Amino acid sequence: MLPLMLSPTRQVGGRRIQGVAFLHVFRTVKEMVDYRDGLPRSTSVGFVPTMGALHVGHLSLVDRARKECDVTIASIFVNGKQFSAGEDLDKYPRQLEADLKMLTDAGVDAVFAPTDNEMYPPGGSLCHVEPSAFSHILEGQARPEFFRGVATVVAKLFNIVQPTVSYFGQKDISQCILLMKMVRDLNFRTKLQVCPTLRAEDGLALSSRNAYLSAAERPLADVLFRALNAGKQFFADFQGEDVPSQAIRQQVENVLRSQPLVSKVEYVSIASHHNMAEMASVPKSQGAVISSAIRLGQVRLIDNLLIGPAESDILSAVKR
Ligand code: AMP
Repeated sequence: MLPLMLSPTRQVGGRRIQGVAFLHVFRTVKEMVDYRDGLPRSTSVGFVPTMGALHVGHLSLVDRARKECDVTIASIFVNGKQFSAGEDLDKYPRQLEADLKMLTDAGVDAVFAPTDNEMYPPGGSLCHVEPSAFSHILEGQARPEFFRGVATVVAKLFNIVQPTVSYFGQKDISQCILLMKMVRDLNFRTKLQVCPTLRAEDGLALSSRNAYLSAAERPLADVLFRALNAGKQFFADFQGEDVPSQAIRQQVENVLRSQPLVSKVEYVSIASHHNMAEMASVPKSQGAVISSAIRLGQVRLIDNLLIGPAESDILSAVKR
């Protein structure tokens, strides 16, 4: 365990404690499990899994966890299993010391930051979580390893941390919906809370990958948010119960194609917020997820909006 001495004061359970902040940093599964087992049975544990390179979007999940739970645990692990060959795994930003400082200042109690060998011991693994219906949709089209990698690592983290409530960002909506199903299908004893996407002033969803945008690209990167909003507005204005998905998609694509720096539109999806299945039309009484992935120059951006009742369904109460 690495003790981390940083800021002079911190909030613990609503009380301000004077003195030197102490953040538990665990590098091994055993250390993390021992800490968790040492907490009183009645303690509620809020868990925020991340791949590091933290920004205020991540910290909004931490804030929510701290408000709702007795103890907040974050994890930092760049999960190689969800990257495909040739993807940006080696380039993915790593800044453990800066992340630990941010988490200390945010009032996190413990951080699980395992090494690759600790999570995936040499010799390989026999078992993994295979969300077969998700393998070839959305993020899975371009990154076939993605959903299996996410489900497997999150299942391992749930088993290690045993969280009462786990906090995920709407930014990665297909991941949220997959994990809700995984929790139900495999009887994990955690609740899931999906938290709204934090955005820059122009609407760009905050993301660790935004650092790849050049100074010329950054001011134009709001195009994805504007495009999704055009689809959302079309849905809201449509007269009639069933809104054709193709018409919503067209609105989104029109905005994307108007920006010459958009070098590729990987997908524009209109899908059910229950299982991410594509919908031919969207009932007003049900709503849907509009999501898209584009390349702005070389940089891949993803974003989504929830339309109609899907928004409150997903964001309101904790999900089991
Ligand atoms: P990552 O480190 O990218 O795997 O993200 C860790 C968690 O933070 C995931 O649940 C993300 O959905 C969430 N997250 C990332 N960006 C944002 C954002 N802009 N607003 C809210 N949550 C976010």
